[in-house]
Amino acid sequence: EKFKHGLEKTRNSFSSKVNDLVARYRTVDEEFFEELEELLLQADVGFETVMQLIDELEMEVKRKNIKSTDGIQAVISEKLVEIYEQGEADITDLNMQPDGELTVILFVGVNGVGKTTTIGKLAHRFEQQGKKVMLAAGDTFRAGAIDQLQVWGDRVGVEVIKQSEGSDPAAVMYDAINAAKNRGVDILICDTAGRLQNKVNLMNELQKVHRVIEREVPGAPHEVLLALDATTGQNALVQAKTFKEATKVTGIVLTKLDGTAKGGIVLAIRNQLHIPVKFVGLGEKMDDLQPFDAERYVYGLFA
Ligand code: GDP
Repeated sequence: EKFKHGLEKTRNSFSSKVNDLVARYRTVDEEFFEELEELLLQADVGFETVMQLIDELEMEVKRKNIKSTDGIQAVISEKLVEIYEQGEADITDLNMQPDGELTVILFVGVNGVGKTTTIGKLAHRFEQQGKKVMLAAGDTFRAGAIDQLQVWGDRVGVEVIKQSEGSDPAAVMYDAINAAKNRGVDILICDTAGRLQNKVNLMNELQKVHRVIEREVPGAPHEVLLALDATTGQNALVQAKTFKEATKVTGIVLTKLDGTAKGGIVLAIRNQLHIPVKFVGLGEKMDDLQPFDAERYVYGLFA
């Protein structure tokens, strides 16, 4: 239900346009595909992904000898899911350590995309599952970032390990891991600074943080989650490419999907970057974080 509600904007815009298109074109012809292509681009599915999708749709229509646009939505949905999954099974589950062992999750992403909010929501989710959670305030660069994480920590009721603004993020991670081990924490979620302006700095900092975590907890970080803002459209793709070069991103959290009619960006991300979207943000509240399910998402667009 939440999932459905959060996708209202995209659904209303996309499905009504497709339905309108289907009503106007009785037969599946070249012009129908041209308009569909335009519509998908408007939904931010992304140029390459749209081209691939249209190609495959045209082949499918030929293969099945489909002439009428009746029920073409089902064919489109099927292809959208296929394109999203790329023949790989969809991996939305997080790589969690067995009970009694510490799982470390590192969060990366540009300021303002909803990183802190997502960390809070995820902490809440784990808490509800009965896990002991701790947060590490690794964004020591942006003024207010530490306080903001503390606000979420208080709200969710989890401890936040922090140092003063401007301190070394790697040192914060070191502290946090030791605190987590001492207090029998199940999951440590680490925030990091999100400045993209200086790519070399970003890489160095992330690599240093990564190294400390790896040294203190062999095999960690178990997840590196990149927060991307769905409302920024193709910009989100550019950010993802940069972070992918800077660190090993294992999953994406696409935030503010409730705030855009261009939810097609989720398809472009997976299709072009080969990184699974693990969660989507569907609002500002604590429980507005949902695991992403491609099939539910795509079929939901037409429901
Ligand atoms: P950060 O700078 O990346 O840590 O971003 P914040 O967590 O401070 O979020 C920036 C703004 O986006 C805040 O006003 C959040 O309430 C809002 N926000 C975060 N996630 C979502 C979401 O999924 N949906 C909506 N509508 N707003 C969100």
